[in-house]
Amino acid sequence: MPAVLIIGASRGIGRELVRQYLAEGWQVLASYRQPADGDALEAAGAEAIRLDVGDAAASEALAASLKPASLDLVILNAGIYPQGDEDPAHPDEAAFLEGMRINVLAPMRLAALLKPALKPGGCVAFLSSRMGSKKLLESGNALFYRSSKAALNVVVKGLANAWKNEGLRALALHPGWVRTDMGGSDADIDVATSAAGLRQVIAEPGLARSGRFFAYDGAELPW
Ligand code: NDP
Repeated sequence: MPAVLIIGASRGIGRELVRQYLAEGWQVLASYRQPADGDALEAAGAEAIRLDVGDAAASEALAASLKPASLDLVILNAGIYPQGDEDPAHPDEAAFLEGMRINVLAPMRLAALLKPALKPGGCVAFLSSRMGSKKLLESGNALFYRSSKAALNVVVKGLANAWKNEGLRALALHPGWVRTDMGGSDADIDVATSAAGLRQVIAEPGLARSGRFFAYDGAELPW
């Protein structure tokens, strides 16, 4: 039975990925923060693991608790949309740093710590955003979030380079503009469409696809 660990699985895209991988017969390990979310994940059939991704010691403990070479896939989905960047002359420093801590530092650390738990040929998929693409940037807004996802993209590409000779893949993924707490109710697509597309993109084999940036519909995005 293939096994996936989904980090940030309490709601939104992460929660739907849990539902779809379970429905496909995968073993699903899923992380949460609030106890009620852990109960809901267990009730759905996942193995729930409590983790705040900003907690280095807890991230290390999670990695140490996993059997080496036991996972086919890790999905690093947890992310935040930092507020406070409306006026670049007076940015909210704490909000900026929190965005970098949760959207960049945490997934970088988790990917490296969880690497030994991947089976040969395994994959780490990072939830990035097309808002992190410099090439696609056409506005001046949301600079905190964009900066964090741009930095995450550099991390993904760097880890992909470092892992290539070990046969492990790292992918940067854009889930679409999705109706979740983060995406809002006006967004283009629902979580089911996004998660189904992401699963298909992740399932596409080949080390040649590692270190690249794909949208949920399969389109490759520029950095
Ligand atoms: P939501 O805001 O709906 O959910 C965010 C998830 O991340 C929750 O499970 C939340 O857990 C978890 N999370 C946040 N901070 C932490 C933390 N410190 N430790 C552990 N878990 C944490 O987001 P979406 O589902 O919309 O987005 C998922 C990913 O996709 C994010 O990385 C986002 O940036 C990216 N994305 C989303 C888009 C969209 O349109 N929705 C577009 C482009 C990218 P909890 O419930 O405990 O807070």
